Amino acid sequence: MRKPFVAANWKMNLTVEGARSLVYAMSARLREIPQVEKVLLPPYPSLLAVHALLEGSDLGLGAQNMHWEDKGAFTGEVSPLMVKELCTYVLIGHSERRTLFGETDETVNRRLRAAEKAALTPILCVGETLQQYEAGQTPDVVARQIKLGLAALGVEFASRVVVAYEPVWAIGTGKAATGEDASRVVSAIIRPAVAELFGAETSGRVRVIYGGSVGASNAAEFFAFPDIDGALVGGASLKADEFVAIVQAAGKS
Ligand code: PEP
Repeated sequence: MRKPFVAANWKMNLTVEGARSLVYAMSARLREIPQVEKVLLPPYPSLLAVHALLEGSDLGLGAQNMHWEDKGAFTGEVSPLMVKELCTYVLIGHSERRTLFGETDETVNRRLRAAEKAALTPILCVGETLQQYEAGQTPDVVARQIKLGLAALGVEFASRVVVAYEPVWAIGTGKAATGEDASRVVSAIIRPAVAELFGAETSGRVRVIYGGSVGASNAAEFFAFPDIDGALVGGASLKADEFVAIVQAAGKS
């Protein structure tokens, strides 16, 4: 049994005070859905404040990115040791990191190996661009991102990775993939690629979630597919009622 998993990617939004208000607005309702693993991914400056608010709750906390080195002359970066002080999770290889900040499969893999060393649970984002989608390259692109991203990880750790399938053309556009299309990518591309690296048993244990314009109105469509274990939510995670409704839908799946 894979526990449903829903994460809130707040991206570069909310001041510390805004982050606190959003947690206040939804934490009690989220606590009533213990069957779903729930993770908040605030910007770095809000991590400490949100960490304090989550004390004693079953809401998880994660960073939106991290460097692979533990310390050193890397101005502007945050290390796995620093993330580990406050967080259990870390988002790695989000498409905005790949397209806007030059992340490659190689640097994504370095971050994943650093997450293993720091015992952080990574959420690895994969997904094709619109151009790749239209050229029919989705299978090649996604399989490559999985194989290079997860390369050289230990099998035990690999089974704890959460993979987020996020077609880039669906992120922040209001144009979500269909549940059927997303499910096909998960079952025909992502799980077989994980199985090739780590075996069928591990592939069956890895949680694979969907991301890209998920909201309260369409979340259940994705969760109806048994191969989709939850959602990575961007824009809608900034609205307490929307995010709670998405988690409730995951809880009913
Ligand atoms: C995301 O940031 O990972 C995301 C899926 O964004 P949105 O839900 O806004 O499409």
